[in-house]
Amino acid sequence: MTTHSSHTTNINVDAGEIAKFERMANRWWDPQGDFKPLHQMNPVRANYIDLKAKVAEKTLLDVGCGGGLLSEAMAQRGAVVTGIDMGEAPLEVARLHAQSNGLEIDYRRITAEQLARESAGQFDVVTCLEMLEHVPDPSQVINACFALVKPGGHVFFSTLNRTPKAYLMAVLGAEYVLRWLPRGTHEYKKFIRPSELGAWARHAGFHVRDLAGIVYNPLNQTFRTVAGDVDVNYIMHVQKPEA
Ligand code: SAH
Repeated sequence: MTTHSSHTTNINVDAGEIAKFERMANRWWDPQGDFKPLHQMNPVRANYIDLKAKVAEKTLLDVGCGGGLLSEAMAQRGAVVTGIDMGEAPLEVARLHAQSNGLEIDYRRITAEQLARESAGQFDVVTCLEMLEHVPDPSQVINACFALVKPGGHVFFSTLNRTPKAYLMAVLGAEYVLRWLPRGTHEYKKFIRPSELGAWARHAGFHVRDLAGIVYNPLNQTFRTVAGDVDVNYIMHVQKPEA
């Protein structure tokens, strides 16, 4: 396998987005740094995924894994994890961090679409969290996740809803008022409504199993899943039909 040249033909990657995450990569594991919301969300989403998919001993692919927050949480629960991302710096951070935590995770620079061509039907579980809103055509990634998961396997997508409240909280609140995230981290028009995500997922061939909000409580600064409230952040659980 060549490393960089084999990726240049891929069109469903926004180079500007990847560059943004490359620049932030060294702050990935600082709980008070640029990725503070991901740190705060991580236990909740890890629990949700484990509850639905029982990840122990299963092969799990984390698409758009970044510095590896979810990949590590899944490995700690006993999953055999592969993490993929198109940013080299986040992957390097992820590799070093896993090593220092004694976790074996296979991190690779490849897109979901490319991996689907070589490893179709290989994974029990696929996760793709907070990534679709950074990709030119999310439906292609969803189709690739369908190809990558085994029949009967579970896939999880999380993203930001395209509502005025999400704009207030995730863009104005997190980037301008609280300054948790660098300005320009999120582009409102790329946020995805649950109805759109559901339609893409069904079109790919998935059954939609569950939809839950990941809701921030400013009083104790924690997130929790709430079935009815998908106004800002949410996670969708879908399943590939048995063969
Ligand atoms: N999923 C992680 C990181 C989210 S940040 C988490 O929730 O903790 C979004 C990540 O998606 C970044 O690391 C970025 O480099 C990656 N990304 C963006 N577009 C991508 C693409 N087309 N293919 C693979 N990774 C991509």
